[in-house]
Amino acid sequence: MREQLLALEKRAIEELEGVKDPARIEEIRIAYLGKKGRLTAIMRKLGELPPDKRPEMGKLANRVKENLARRLKEAKEAATLGRTEPVQYLDVTLPGREPLRGHLHPITIVIKEICRIFSAMGFRVVKGPNVELDYYNFEALNIPKDHPARDMQDTFYISENVVLRTHTSPIQVRVMETQKPPVSVIAPGKVYRRDSDVSHTPMFHQVEGLLVDRGVSFGDLKGTLTSFVHQMFGRDTTLRFRPSFFPFTEPSAEVDIRCVICKGRGCRTCSQTGWLEILGSGMVDPAVYGFVDYDPEIYSGFAFGMGVERIAMLKYGINDIQLFFKNHMRFLRQF
Ligand SMILES: [Zn+2]
Repeated sequence: MREQLLALEKRAIEELEGVKDPARIEEIRIAYLGKKGRLTAIMRKLGELPPDKRPEMGKLANRVKENLARRLKEAKEAATLGRTEPVQYLDVTLPGREPLRGHLHPITIVIKEICRIFSAMGFRVVKGPNVELDYYNFEALNIPKDHPARDMQDTFYISENVVLRTHTSPIQVRVMETQKPPVSVIAPGKVYRRDSDVSHTPMFHQVEGLLVDRGVSFGDLKGTLTSFVHQMFGRDTTLRFRPSFFPFTEPSAEVDIRCVICKGRGCRTCSQTGWLEILGSGMVDPAVYGFVDYDPEIYSGFAFGMGVERIAMLKYGINDIQLFFKNHMRFLRQF
């Protein structure tokens, strides 16, 4: 048995010599050390030996087994390590890979554009708190507790006197409280209402505008907003001022532009009217001046507010407001 074992060891080592293919190495392993392998077969016969020979032969068989196992392992490692990747050539004429670059969200782009247009006309950009006192959100804007206008907006109440602001208009009051005329500001920001469907989201963006000085007339309002519309939607955009109602302006007007989709012929977007409402505006109601200590006999002014999503949808031809908030890269990359 000793000779058998040593011969087997020698043969196995010879067979393994120079083999570089991992599959072939595995074949050799199975042939010798596998369940039906040659060494395994010899070791099965150990039991047939006389008891005094068994320990010696057992030792030798184990040594051979360990030796072969180690060599097989080494051969396999060498074969795997030795594998070289296909030669790669560097084509220096290939254009470089462009790194992924972030860019602004369409809503941010539109807010920046609105701010740019009004800043150029002398308006200062101001901000106000998202969590607002009932006083600023309603009361000081001429919307007392029992006023029907409070039903116009579904409000998120935090407590009886604290709300998530339903519009950016409270910023007007905060500015007028701390500054004497002349005042000309625009205030972009998030607003919150309990509303969610194709054209409403519980959070959206508005830009508020306010101008108060001596002798400001409705003509100034028309001129300012006409200039804005022409810069935002193009010089050839037709617009109209339609009488409306807001508690904090008098008289009030909504501004419509000729439908950008059908050019006024009538389509689904404009509900067949040919017009699209884009903002609300009006002369500041003298009652509001009472809350901030401005003398309505001396000062007059106008205010306006617009939904940023609405402007963005019309500017880019987007029909679902939810797209702005789903953050699908395929949508966002278009801007
Ligand atoms: Zn239309």
